[in-house]
Amino acid sequence: MKLSIYVCESCGKTSVPERLICPACKSTAFTTKELDGEGKVYSFTKINVSSVEFKHLTPYYVVLVDLPTGERITGRTSDDIQIDDTLQLVDVDNGAYIWAKG
Ligand SMILES: [Zn+2]
Repeated sequence: MKLSIYVCESCGKTSVPERLICPACKSTAFTTKELDGEGKVYSFTKINVSSVEFKHLTPYYVVLVDLPTGERITGRTSDDIQIDDTLQLVDVDNGAYIWAKG
């Protein structure tokens, strides 16, 4: 699944999620770029006891994923993962990125 990132039209800085003002140059003009939805595990934590709305998913991992463009974004996966594993974006659920082992 593709993953959209935002590129400042003025200086080229990329960001996820969308920003109103570029943190690098204060420009407010952005374009969207689509990535192939691949990332690498930077860090993760296993959730065994969750809030009620995610109870049906447990156990699952909350994962920090490094994108090839340098952004680090959070997400969720049910797969057993290790640091540096390659992940593929498979869904966006209520604004949350859902990953699977690539
Ligand atoms: Zn900028």
